[in-house]
Amino acid sequence: MNTDYATFVRNAQALEERIARICADCGRDPLEVQLMAVTKTHGAEAVDYAARYGLKSIGENRVQEAATKKPESTATIRWELIGHLQSNKAKLAVEIFDRIQSVDRAKLVRALDRHAGEQNRVLPVLLQVNAGDDPAKFGVSCEDAPALLEAALEASHLKVEGLMTIAPLDEDPTVARSAFERLRNLRDELQEGFGVSLPELSMGMTDDLEQAVRAGSTCVRVGTALFGARE
Ligand SMILES: *Cc1c(COP(=O)(O)O)cnc(C)c1O
Repeated sequence: MNTDYATFVRNAQALEERIARICADCGRDPLEVQLMAVTKTHGAEAVDYAARYGLKSIGENRVQEAATKKPESTATIRWELIGHLQSNKAKLAVEIFDRIQSVDRAKLVRALDRHAGEQNRVLPVLLQVNAGDDPAKFGVSCEDAPALLEAALEASHLKVEGLMTIAPLDEDPTVARSAFERLRNLRDELQEGFGVSLPELSMGMTDDLEQAVRAGSTCVRVGTALFGARE
């Protein structure tokens, strides 16, 4: 990472101002939109910058990378897993992360529930949905999301807080927008159908954050616009 702390602060302020402008434009309260720093590929100092600036959480996409990085950071901040999780890494993931955003199948629900139980905790999770039907992305389909939610609600050591998606990579911004709107509609249907509250909609990254905030995102996951391009 070539970014120093002063540059990080400028980047974070610019992003917060941008989010505030978008919120003003679509009538949302900017306090509803959390800025998460995605620290994957960067060292522990990236985590420390995020904490020092006052961000609430960082996102990592690999369990092993996070396991190496976490002891090197002195920061107090929430660690969240945003990348694909293999069931055989579920135990380590439960030890490291404060929340797992990438729960996408019933087998993983059962593994996480068991390990969270063994570690005597209730693990907050988001269900990852492939809302853009992108063959290159993980996530449960919208059609199969109700069954996955049902399994997750039965897991007594998991707390389902909402949904997460990664939009298809496309130059046309309406592609991301329709994936985000689909996720929000799915969330509304699931809340209604199951009588539960699913407040969190984790959607939007550096290139599609605006469409995500307009569609109701409560957590934008930003790496590049905070830390510069990854090698
Ligand atoms: C890498 C990553 C991000 C951040 O992407 P940027 O384009 O660098 O902002 C967000 N979400 C997930 C799931 C990621 O893997």
